[in-house]
Parts: sequence; C-alpha cells; structure tokens
Amino acid sequence: MAKKSLGFVELEWVCPTCNSRNPGSSRTCQGCGSPQPPDVKFVAPGQANITKDEEVARQATAGPDIHCPYCDARNPAGAKVCKQCGGDLTQAEARPAGELVRNFTTAGPGVVKCTTCGTENPANLRTCKNCGAPLPVVKPAPAPKPQAAGGNSCLLIGIGVVVLLVIGVFLFMMLGGGGERTTTVGTVVDSRWVRTIQIMGLRPREYTGWLDDIPADATLGACTDEVRAVVQEPVANAREVCGTPYAVDQGTGFAEVVQDCVYEVLEQQCRYTVNEWQPVDVVTEEGSGFNPTWPSLTGRQREGERTEQYQCVFTVGDTTYVYETRTFAEYQHCLPGSSWTLETNASGRVLSAAPAE
Ligand SMILES: [Zn+2]
Ligand SMILES: [Zn+2]
Ligand SMILES: [Zn+2]
Repeated sequence: MAKKSLGFVELEWVCPTCNSRNPGSSRTCQGCGSPQPPDVKFVAPGQANITKDEEVARQATAGPDIHCPYCDARNPAGAKVCKQCGGDLTQAEARPAGELVRNFTTAGPGVVKCTTCGTENPANLRTCKNCGAPLPVVKPAPAPKPQAAGGNSCLLIGIGVVVLLVIGVFLFMMLGGGGERTTTVGTVVDSRWVRTIQIMGLRPREYTGWLDDIPADATLGACTDEVRAVVQEPVANAREVCGTPYAVDQGTGFAEVVQDCVYEVLEQQCRYTVNEWQPVDVVTEEGSGFNPTWPSLTGRQREGERTEQYQCVFTVGDTTYVYETRTFAEYQHCLPGSSWTLETNASGRVLSAAPAE
C-alpha cells in the first residue's frame, strides 16, 4: 500500500485551565497564557485546511516539540533553554509523534454551537462571534454504518433448506426408497435397442478474455477496460484508488494528512469468437433383437459421442415392466420367452433383474 501525502494541517489543543481552543503552533494558551502541558494531546481542527506550503511543511516536520523537565512548558525541538523558565532542556522529553489524530475529517466546515450564548459559529472559529467565549471542540458526524445483510442471508438459507427438503422427499418417493420391494418372475416379451451418434460441426463459440490471451484465429468483439491486477505501487495504465484521508500527529502542532492508495492495473478485456467442433445433430438407429447397428454417417460428417441403450421388456400377468440392462452382454440374455427374477418397487420401477435359475 502506497502512502500518499496530501499535505499538512494545523491541529488544535484545548487549554485545561480555561478551556480555550488553541492553534497547534501556539505553545502557550491564547486565552490565559498557560503553557500546553505534556499530557494535553493535539486534536483534530474544526475545519481541515490542508496545505502543501513549504514553510508549514518545514515547521510541521521539524521534529516533535519538547517539554521542559522543570516547568513542563512546550519548547521547539532542538531548543537548549526553556522559553518559560530558562531551565536546561538537554533532558527534555519529546512529545509523542506518529499517532493517529482521532476524529479527523476532511469534510467541509460544520457548525459549532457556543455553550455560553447558543450562537452557531462556523467550525473554523475558536471563539464565539457573538459573545467571545471559547468554543468547544467540534465533534464530527459519525460515519454511516455499512448496511447489514444478515437478515436477508438468513432468509435465503431458510428457503434453501426448505427447497432441499422438498427435493429430498421427492427423490425418496421417486426411487421408492423405503417403499415395498416386490420380487416376481417375469417373462421376456421384447428386447429393444437404441444407438445414437452425435454429428459435429464447426460453429462459433463466444468467450471473454484478456486481449493478450486471445487466440490468433479468433474474431475479436467489443473490448472494455477492466481491472486485471491490484498493485501496491503506482505503475503505468493503473487507476489510483485511495482510502479516507487520515491525520498523523507530528508532535509539532501539525499533522500530516495521508491516504493509503492501491493501483488497479487496467487492461482490455474482449469478447471473441472461435470456431469449435460442437454437436450440431444426432442420428439415431433403433430396433428389436440382438443385432444392433450404429447409424451410418456420410464421409463428410464428423462423428462425436456415441450412446447405446438396451431394454428388456417383461410381463407379469397384465403388468408390463421395462428394465434397462447395464451392458450389451446382459442384454443378450434377454431372450423372448425366458424367465427373469424381477425386483420392483411400488411405482413399477425395476430395481434389479436377473435370468431366473
Ligand atoms: Zn488557557
Ligand atoms: Zn521550563
Ligand atoms: Zn457565544
């Protein structure tokens, strides 16, 4: 993920003595003159005025300010003696830097209500335009919550379960599972065979693929730019996709405003057609008896998949049963007048059949 700097923004701090909001660059309170204590953090400004001004950048990145070990006063990085008390600053502690500034937003200026007189002030003001009282820190509106999809997916799972149950019960009944199985002896009255051959033809088939993967003999259709890869650093033909800007406290009263970005590599994805051998017709030959033949093809026709099916037809009293043999060899035992032991279910399906002893 690439970090992209949008510039710098001056933060604020709130004086614990008089509650005044102070610009980050101000090391002592503009309301009462107290120095900013080490434990008072910088907060997001009422309105983010992001700047790339070189002087601001230099000031922002000069290194975190330090606090006097004697009077706590905030001094610039590198200062030797305290501006407040003249104390030696060689043992001074630096303010924390690199922390995320909470509630930072680049959204337009909001309004802030004066807690003293109730006047609504633009968020960039620190004192009330009506009565001059210090204004409270602006709270940004909470981000909208992403829509929960939980309810719907529960419903879908519910429907899925019901559908599966219905299919299950249906199959159970179809296959006669659990139903009565009857064993009888049937007499063969007919033997039938069906043989098919697919006829193949060269026909166009449509595909979608990346332009550089398309076979040379394909016919090219419409192309669109699509994301082929997401990379962490900028490259040619890439679309920059950046997250919400956030502010990183520099310890100087300023924050750097940064965005995490990724780069979507766009390439042409195209529809194309190629001619492929596909089944275009089926020829069938059928008959009775034990000398089945395959349908004949003309010399110019290209042969595809073959199928063969063999059936033995029995009668038991007035009832006719049809049994599909598993192999041609089994079918050859299906001699007219021969007796077979049949296992059938309630719906008349032959579950198994074998020549009777
Ligand atoms: Zn103050
Ligand atoms: Zn001091
Ligand atoms: Zn006011």
